[in-house]
Amino acid sequence: MRSILIVEDESSIRSFVVINLKRAGYNIYEAESGEEALVTLAANPDIRLALLDLMLPGMDGFELCRQIRAANPGMGIIMLTARTQEVDKVTGLMMGADDYVTKPFSPTELIARVDALFRRIGGEDDAERTEIRGGPFTLNTRNRTLTKNGELVKVTQVEYAIMKTFMENPGKALPREEIMSLVWGREDFGDLKIVDVNIRRLRLKIEEDTARPKYINTVWGYGYKWESNFSGGLDSR
Ligand code: CA
Repeated sequence: MRSILIVEDESSIRSFVVINLKRAGYNIYEAESGEEALVTLAANPDIRLALLDLMLPGMDGFELCRQIRAANPGMGIIMLTARTQEVDKVTGLMMGADDYVTKPFSPTELIARVDALFRRIGGEDDAERTEIRGGPFTLNTRNRTLTKNGELVKVTQVEYAIMKTFMENPGKALPREEIMSLVWGREDFGDLKIVDVNIRRLRLKIEEDTARPKYINTVWGYGYKWESNFSGGLDSR
């Protein structure tokens, strides 16, 4: 059974989440604080996804997210934020969260986010192809890993999914809406900032100079484009 950890100090919200996710067929672990969450995660390696409330007593959701991500790049992480915490959303994503849900949320919305992220983590990659290459990058679709010049780049599952989308579409300008739909499985395009923030984070990991990105180009007012001819760009400099 697919296991999820919910970290939330408010018991009413926690039980609301637990009841609904159990009903959706998930196995649930609960923690009331970040400290308790880290212990629970260490003891239960079957946990593949964590729902983190931002405002927690002691260690906050940001720090918890950072620590989980440092120890486990493959963990799916969804932040629970209040509607007014616009800046917090961005910070959370930069700390390594894959997605967020704003409070108050409906069970349907939460389950849709969780299901979509599990699809990403679960790996629905095509079995016949195991490698996608582009410039210095190789994506191993069996291990879901990324290397640059043969060295492992630590990416989250969502960053991996973005890389795969780009590398399967070299030289093609992709609208942000399409990236959101392909990577997050979301059709509600209200907040495309999640795409921008994840790409900003990915650039920090793969670009040599994020001020002058060489691999992921911004197409102003539209979206992003994966460069198809890196060596040409290098030679012309
Ligand atoms: Ca709280």
